[in-house]
Amino acid sequence: MAGTRTVPTIRLRFGAVAKAVHAATQLEWDTPLYQQASTQLEQALELADVPDFVSTRLRHPEQAVILTLPVRLDDGSYATFPAYRVKHSSVLGPTKGGIRYDDAVDLGECAALAMWMTWKCALLRLPYGGAKGGVRCNPRELSANELVRITRRFTAELAPFIGPQLDIPAPDMATNEQTMAWMMDTYSMQKGYAVPEIVTGKPVSLGGSLFRHEATGAGVVMVVERACHRLGWDLAEQRCVVQGFGNVGGIAATELADKGAAVVAVSDLSGGVFAPDGLDIPTLHAYVAEHGSLEGYESGVTRITNDELLELECDILVVAAREDQITARNAGNLRCRLVAEGANGPTTIDGDRILAERGIPVLPDILTNAGGVTVSYFEWVQDLGRLFWDRDEIRRRLADKMADAFDRVWDVAHDQRIALRDAALVAAIREVAAALEARGVYP
Ligand code: NAD
Repeated sequence: MAGTRTVPTIRLRFGAVAKAVHAATQLEWDTPLYQQASTQLEQALELADVPDFVSTRLRHPEQAVILTLPVRLDDGSYATFPAYRVKHSSVLGPTKGGIRYDDAVDLGECAALAMWMTWKCALLRLPYGGAKGGVRCNPRELSANELVRITRRFTAELAPFIGPQLDIPAPDMATNEQTMAWMMDTYSMQKGYAVPEIVTGKPVSLGGSLFRHEATGAGVVMVVERACHRLGWDLAEQRCVVQGFGNVGGIAATELADKGAAVVAVSDLSGGVFAPDGLDIPTLHAYVAEHGSLEGYESGVTRITNDELLELECDILVVAAREDQITARNAGNLRCRLVAEGANGPTTIDGDRILAERGIPVLPDILTNAGGVTVSYFEWVQDLGRLFWDRDEIRRRLADKMADAFDRVWDVAHDQRIALRDAALVAAIREVAAALEARGVYP
C-alpha cells in the first residue's frame, strides 16, 4: 500500500483481541496490481457490511509459494525460472486458479489474481476459493521440449501444495490443454495412479470437459447479451471491438459474430486489424492457426495499433488480452458505450473512475470471464464422479450459472445504486463472509 498505515487492533467476535496481519511496512506481494485488487476490495468492503474479522482475513492471501525451477534448455545449458503459486482463500473449498507463463509473472500479480479468483468463484457460487500461479518466462522463446520440462519440474515442486481437495490448477495466459495434460501426468506419476481431477482444462481424452475450451469466451458473450437485454439493446445490432485474440478474445469474437454482431476490430500482441463493416472471424482464426498470430494479415483490413483499437468508435469493447489496458491515459478517449472485461484486471482504478464519470458501464472481470472457472468446476465434478455430460448440457448449465450471477449483480447495483464492479464484489464478499462467519477463525 502507498504510504504507511497504523497497525489496527480488532476485536474478534469470540472476544479475543488480535492484531491485523497488515504491517506498517509493505508485504512481499504488495505490488501495483495487488494494490489495485486491494483498493477494489476496500471500496467494496465499505458497501458490503461484513464483520471486521472477515475483512481482516480477506485482505491477505492465505499461502504463497515461491520456487526457482532449474531447467535444461535445448542447447544443453541450464536456466532458472522463478515460479509462484498463491492461495487467497480456502474458506469455501479447495482453491482454484490458472497457471500462466509470462515474463511479467511475479508474487504480487499472482496474489492479485488469486484474490480475484476468490471473488469470482464465490460470485458464481462455486465451492472454491481463489489461487493463481505461474512461471516467469517468455513462452514464445521456449521450445515445446523446454516447456514440457518447465511444466513437469513446476508440477513436481508444487505437488505438496496442490491436490483435488486442496488446490486445482487450470490454464491461463500461454498455457493450454497440453500444459494441463503434462501437469496431470506428472502428478499422477508421483501418486502411482491417474488423477484427472488434479487439473481442469485438460484434453477431453484425459477427462477434460467438453466446452471448457470455449467456456470463458462464450461466458463473456452470455454476460454481454444479458447486459444488452437489460439496457434495451439488440446484440445483433452492436458494433464490437475485441482486444486479445487468444482463448478468451478469439472465442468471444466468434460468439459475437455468430449472434449477428459486427466485430469490426480484433488484436493480439502483433497489433490489430480493423474493417468498418465487420471482420470475417473464421478466416482470421484460420490465419492465426497457420501463422501463430495476426502478424502479416492484410487482406481487406486496415492494420492498427492496440492503442488505436481501444479508442475505436464502437458499441461494445471487449478487453480480453491482459491487465492494465484501460488506464488514466486512455480511459478519457474510449469511444464505446459498454466495456466487457474478458481479461482479469484490464481496467485500473483510475481508468474505472474515468469510465464511471463518463457514464460508460463496465461488465466486471469477476463476473464476465467466470465462464472458464464455472466449466472447470463442471469438469472437476465430472472427474470426481467419473460420469460425463454432453456439450449441450454443459452449455445450458453454464448459461444458467452466468445468468443467475449476472442478475444478482445487476440487482445489487440497482438496489444500492453502485457500479457493477462494486456490486459484483459486494455480492461475492458476502458469500465468503457468510461461510467465514459460520466457520469462525481456528482455533
Ligand atoms: P491467451 O494467451 O490465449 O491469449 C491472450 C491474447 O492476448 C493473445 O492473442 C495475445 O497475443 C494477446 N495479447 C497479449 N498481450 C497483449 C497486448 N498488450 N495487447 C493486445 N493483445 C495482447 O490468453 P487467454 O487465456 O485468452 O487469457 C486472456 C486474459 O483472460 C488473461 O487476463 C487471463 O487471465 C484471462 N482469463 C482467461 C481465462 C481462460 O479460461 N483462458 C479465464 C478467465 C480469465
